[in-house]
Amino acid sequence: MKDEIVLNGIVLSSGLQGEYDRRLVILTREQGKITAFAKGVRRPSSQLISKTQLFVMGAFTVYPGRNAYTLINVDAKEYFHELTFDMNKYCYGSYFCEMMSYFTREGDRSADYLNLLFVSLNALKKGLLPVKLIRCVYELKIMDIFGQGLQSFHCPICGSDRLTRIFDPLSGGILCENCRSKAKKSIHISEDARYVLQYINGATLGNLYNFTVSDSVLEELMMIAKEFLAVYVDRKFNSVEIIESLS
Ligand SMILES: [Zn+2]
Repeated sequence: MKDEIVLNGIVLSSGLQGEYDRRLVILTREQGKITAFAKGVRRPSSQLISKTQLFVMGAFTVYPGRNAYTLINVDAKEYFHELTFDMNKYCYGSYFCEMMSYFTREGDRSADYLNLLFVSLNALKKGLLPVKLIRCVYELKIMDIFGQGLQSFHCPICGSDRLTRIFDPLSGGILCENCRSKAKKSIHISEDARYVLQYINGATLGNLYNFTVSDSVLEELMMIAKEFLAVYVDRKFNSVEIIESLS
């Protein structure tokens, strides 16, 4: 078909539609987040059933319609099966996809978002780091890419680099000596936690999951990410409620 295009991406959600179809939301490098209908994929004869599941990464051949795309074919490069067979990892992976869907729009340039999702699902798949650490890093980095990153190198109020260890989620980062009295909410953090925040801010996506932390720093990071997200994300994700009910 002459209007067919190929979009490279990852399936963010895959829902049932009618008796035999699926409705996919795919984050694509070329067109941002798209909706695509996969017709007839739940028929026993379809070759596409396994390629239209959550987390599948690949090249999606689609043709555009008025409000959505129609899926023609999938050249799957990675299925992330390891997440599908592990309840805990599956829940975290679902949360990453749900959060990604919240931050992205159709038509956005989304290479950084897509790369972040890929390295994060890969970190879950490999299982070398605690899932809770992967979650904190993912949450902080997605905010960074979105342009609302936690300021860990310069004071968010005055720009000074003479930082204290006072984190103020409402001001957006770690405050300097002069501004610490202006904190709307003062949270004391450790030297190690501040260092890790700077690492996450500065790391390329390829190096994002190349470190680990002590249990106490992980606890701090979880608290910091939670406080920070509470200010900037006005939505409770379904999948996060499931994660919290598991732990
Ligand atoms: Zn300052």
